[in-house]
Amino acid sequence: MGATKVTVGNVEIVSLLDTPFEVPWQIFFPERSEAGFEPYRELYPDSYGEGRFRTQAGCYAVRSQGQTILCDTGLGPGPIQFLGGIRGSLLDDMRQKGVPPEDVDIVFFTHLHGDHVGWTLSANGVPNFQKARHLVPQADWDYFGKMLETNPQMQQVTPLADQGVMELISGEQSLTSEVTTYPTPGHTPGHTSLLISSGGEHAIITGDLAHHPAQIDHIEWCSAFDTDAATTTETRRRVFDQTETNGLIAAFCHFPEPFGKLIRLEGKRVFRAL
Ligand SMILES: [Zn+2]
Repeated sequence: MGATKVTVGNVEIVSLLDTPFEVPWQIFFPERSEAGFEPYRELYPDSYGEGRFRTQAGCYAVRSQGQTILCDTGLGPGPIQFLGGIRGSLLDDMRQKGVPPEDVDIVFFTHLHGDHVGWTLSANGVPNFQKARHLVPQADWDYFGKMLETNPQMQQVTPLADQGVMELISGEQSLTSEVTTYPTPGHTPGHTSLLISSGGEHAIITGDLAHHPAQIDHIEWCSAFDTDAATTTETRRRVFDQTETNGLIAAFCHFPEPFGKLIRLEGKRVFRAL
């Protein structure tokens, strides 16, 4: 495991782990067998389970100018039936890492998939992050809001609107003068990243722009959960080029190493953990 905390100028970013999990390759990457990923096993051994794709539900806390911003809320307490009954532990991990839930001022959702909204509400339906306003990408709200019956994760989201603690966002929006939302559509229509700039240093929290680090090199390898493969690929090209060229620290919710840089190694573009 690489660094779990980085500083970017005056900003602190803490990586949080809800739970690791594994998924059959053919379910996550139906167009690409395990053998297709084999050339990257040596580079990224932690992304290969026992015949399955190994990943995690990760989140990030960003501290900037007195604000604590939580980026995504994980899979949730579970048990998650389709993942063998696993249970997340995000709130415990937050307390252990010095970011207790009651400190959170802003909950920012990169997108509204179930592994990113799971701890939003407590068992009795009130927000776990009691003083926070919750920022939801408008395009995801519109997209998933039309499919409430087939998207049970929205039960973690729609009550926020009724309780008056939700704001819809679109475009680039400053959360502090150091932290800005940055639309990165494709995985979902409203998928949004966070750009952090402070003291001449820069980072990007990219949500689900990639799930397996081999996708840093093969931007065209899409998962079954990328809503629009062509747009996802184009967004990867744009963001990974910027990230590599400008030397940003990059963070991916599903990578086992929470922070890294995109560099060239023997002709490949690779994710090198910090
Ligand atoms: Zn995800």
